[in-house]
Amino acid sequence: MTLLGIHHITAIAGDPQHTVEFYAEILGLRLVKQTVNYDDPGTYHLYFGDALGRPGTILTFFPWPGAPRGRHGVGQAAAVSFSIPADALGFWEDRLRSHAVTVERLESLFDEPILVFEDPDGLQLELVADPREALGHSWAAAPVPVAQAIRGFHSVALLEHAYEDTEAVLTQALGFRLVRSVGHRRRYVVGDGGLACWVDIVNAPDAPPGHVAVGTVHHVAWRTPDEETQQGWRRKILEEGLSVTPVRDRRYFKSIYFREPGGVLFEIATDDPGFAVDESPDALGAQLRLPPWLEPEREALTARLPRLRVPQPGPR
Ligand code: ZN
Repeated sequence: MTLLGIHHITAIAGDPQHTVEFYAEILGLRLVKQTVNYDDPGTYHLYFGDALGRPGTILTFFPWPGAPRGRHGVGQAAAVSFSIPADALGFWEDRLRSHAVTVERLESLFDEPILVFEDPDGLQLELVADPREALGHSWAAAPVPVAQAIRGFHSVALLEHAYEDTEAVLTQALGFRLVRSVGHRRRYVVGDGGLACWVDIVNAPDAPPGHVAVGTVHHVAWRTPDEETQQGWRRKILEEGLSVTPVRDRRYFKSIYFREPGGVLFEIATDDPGFAVDESPDALGAQLRLPPWLEPEREALTARLPRLRVPQPGPR
């Protein structure tokens, strides 16, 4: 039994329109689903990804308009890293600057050239020049040419007071392997080692505890193929002495949630059935989709949700 890598990462945003403009129009991800937060249906849940929203490419947001910013700190995923083609760094540096995004070009601790910047709410993002194969297919109608497009997650970095307990769960329970360690950063791999299969633990003994609100990551979800393997993971997590939720139906996948010992909320989500379950692949993200159990409330929910302008495909 092995996890297949990152399934999705979910963060808190402020204004949903700004989020759509930044991720779809500047970063060129596809808005693959407009729905609501099933646990808080008065707020949107927006999913961005590749052409089909394949697991390993999906960044999602709960927008909380008007809410205060969170605090970056330990017990949180500190940075979301995307993979770009190895020769696309200059393209992205120019593109981000031309959209008035402050961007820094650095060598990462693992000798990879990266661009570091923030989204409009202060979420830390990285683009990593990465020679590995793309995970899926970028959206051909995106404003970014396919040759330079974001190709899925590179990795996610967890900020922790101390790495030992988190490492024990990653390696003994979840099947990750330590691959490198430089300074305060340790890198682990799971699955086949392709895109979205890396997680870093950054040891930050003096950092304050993180507080989840606007501009911070809410949780990191790992991939499992189906509900049967998910049940196996659920038993395994219970054997580790951790609390885990019952299976929740998220319509596009099934989910279980647990907190790793350092405080980061983890989810294990199934690859099936995916985002084409309730709208055609051509029309993904174009309209608000609700699960059957919320459909009777559509009118009331629509009245409460801010109106969203979805960008039209094509170069910008
Ligand atoms: Zn999730």
